Amino acid sequence: MSLRDDLGDLEGYHSPQVDVAVRLNTNESPYPPPDAWRAALLEELASLPFHRYPDRQAAELRQAIAKIHGVGPEQVLAANGSNEVIQAVCLAFGGPGRAAAVFRPTYLMHSHIARITGTPVVEGDRDADYALDMGEVERVVGGEQAAITFLCSPNNPTGMLEPPEAIERVLALGRGLVVVDEAYGQFSPRSAIEQVRDGRPLVVVRTYSKTWSMAAARLGYLVGPADLISAVEGVLLPYHLDAMKQAAGRLALRFQPEMEARVAMIVEERGRLTAALSELSVDMWPSAANFILFRPRAKDGEEVWEQLLERSVLVRNCANWPRLDGCLRVTVGTATENDAFLSALREVLG
Ligand code: PMP
Repeated sequence: MSLRDDLGDLEGYHSPQVDVAVRLNTNESPYPPPDAWRAALLEELASLPFHRYPDRQAAELRQAIAKIHGVGPEQVLAANGSNEVIQAVCLAFGGPGRAAAVFRPTYLMHSHIARITGTPVVEGDRDADYALDMGEVERVVGGEQAAITFLCSPNNPTGMLEPPEAIERVLALGRGLVVVDEAYGQFSPRSAIEQVRDGRPLVVVRTYSKTWSMAAARLGYLVGPADLISAVEGVLLPYHLDAMKQAAGRLALRFQPEMEARVAMIVEERGRLTAALSELSVDMWPSAANFILFRPRAKDGEEVWEQLLERSVLVRNCANWPRLDGCLRVTVGTATENDAFLSALREVLG
């Protein structure tokens, strides 16, 4: 018995789940969903027909999602977290001999998930400021005839937006499917969903894990032209989305003002955290998401990460990631959590 050769040297997802007082490493919302949502969900669960398979089309959920984005339900596909959406996209449009292009630094799971699905990965580098470098995009996407190009806006872990023109230019290369991952989309002023049209190969990935305060539910979705959505649907397992999750996702959309209030609080705290970090001896990248990337100037990033952990503050250690030498990424938490992080960081940086 042996493992697939191409999986042998693959590293899995690493983000330690340790017991700390201040957990700012996985970009979750610091606020739980509204109590009224929990009550509505419990009420619905009380009469849920558990002996039956769930609605395979997740029709009501799709309709509810479609409505908030002003698209048709046939333009929406929901799955178990946006990671599963990305996996389904790779299964449908990638595979052996059909490369996926990524531009580093970016969300590492795009290439990881692609490889798991047997999709070869071709990598390009962003420029020194971490913006897309169009020459590099043309070299990688055009040269390698990529079947899928992953963009991420705001990009994880830099927090930077992908301008609409950059997305248009990648589309204009006319190579395969362009996937814009908007896991942090609600924190930014515009969405690539506005650029989705029939007949063009653009799809946008979204998740309930961040702004909708529902990371535990594992629910994400894809918005795109109906023919591409139904192609991706074809690779999903039957009844992949359980009935509890469908209800949770559908009911959450009734609480949009509460969710927007959460986003507003996080954006305000992001501003405060950015201002405080700019007074410390760190380099920092302005963020359009719910996290901030920074690099201690005079101290090793790895060491700072460990010393924060000793103070029960957990941030994301990106110090050894490609192109992110010495960098750390902090999720915007509650005001109290952010204060705890800042005072620990001030202490560590001396
Ligand atoms: N895309 C990006 C850019 C992310 O940062 C994350 C979460 N870290 C995901 C997708 C996956 O989110 P989920 O599977 O929880 O929807």
